[in-house]
Amino acid sequence: MTSWKENVREVVPYTPGEQPKTKVIKLNTNENPYPPSPLVGKAISNVKLDTLRKYPDPNCSNLISAIAEYHGFDTENVFVGVGSDDVLAMSFLTFFNSKKPVFFPDITYSFYDVWADLFRIPYEKKSLDEAFKIKQRDYDSPCGGIVIPNPNAPTGIAEPVSFFENIVKNHPECVVIIDEAYVDFGSKSCIDLVRKYDNLLVVRTFSKSRAMAGNRIGYAIGGKELIKYLSDCKFSFNSYTMDSITLAAGVASIQDDSYFKEKLEAVINTREWTKKQLSTLGFTFPDSKSNFIFAKHESIEAAYIFEELKKARIYVRYFSKPERISNYLRISIGTDEEMQVFIDELSKIIKGV
Ligand SMILES: *Cc1c(COP(=O)(O)O)cnc(C)c1O
Repeated sequence: MTSWKENVREVVPYTPGEQPKTKVIKLNTNENPYPPSPLVGKAISNVKLDTLRKYPDPNCSNLISAIAEYHGFDTENVFVGVGSDDVLAMSFLTFFNSKKPVFFPDITYSFYDVWADLFRIPYEKKSLDEAFKIKQRDYDSPCGGIVIPNPNAPTGIAEPVSFFENIVKNHPECVVIIDEAYVDFGSKSCIDLVRKYDNLLVVRTFSKSRAMAGNRIGYAIGGKELIKYLSDCKFSFNSYTMDSITLAAGVASIQDDSYFKEKLEAVINTREWTKKQLSTLGFTFPDSKSNFIFAKHESIEAAYIFEELKKARIYVRYFSKPERISNYLRISIGTDEEMQVFIDELSKIIKGV
């Protein structure tokens, strides 16, 4: 007798960083240490209770218009979803439908292989070089699609627009997705290439730079044809993905650009300060253009530092796999005060060995 278990779509799910219930210094999930703009708070409290009785706008028109205007595109160039995870998953489902493998780096956002497995998409991981950089020639051959974060995670390394333009230009046979989750923290966006290439999709999120991980807003900018295919897939799945409160909050965030830029600058300054402190303590790391630093100590094991920091109620991210990164810690950038406490505790741990 066969069992139903033989026909289950079995997957190994993505494991997000811990969300502790007690008060800790939380540098483990790349959240923004600052709250979103006060305009976001106002917009949320202005939502009438009666609004919640009704289904939200399935077309998310206000949010899409705000995003389109902000980037200088038409609304038909914008797709929104419940965090960029939703946008990325929907894009995998829509565009990665070839027998040829999809390419992405071996060390990258660890959700990519989970979606590929879930949707039965063949894929090939391309190994980063010794310095954790993406080798462009690895992406030369015809394939079923390409997805690369810029800056890459968890390394924080950014590549110039020309690097991606070469890849996009070489692959008219597939869609290239650039995941710009961290681009606002100091690297160059590929959004303008969308005007030139109809096979490029740039994915963004409100979770990191806009400090709205709790709201779940992500979006994609792409050619009108690409966005139409993506929307058709989404509307075949679930029409009401974003709630009314979140839609209002998203618009308000876009409207407060000076607050947005001010907080970005604060995070960037703290990151640069943290880099100096880490170097002094004997850490090495790739030059991060994101809101985290991927660092390794010259003599002390990452797993040990991770556990000791946890005892001091400071959470950072540690990946035991793959082997190549098992001696690294990914440290999200907090406020100046949090990073001072972090550096103080870290130096105690290092001196105590
Ligand atoms: C955080 C992150 C995402 C997902 O963010 P959402 O919160 O789902 O918008 C996507 N890609 C990368 C590389 C990330 O680090």
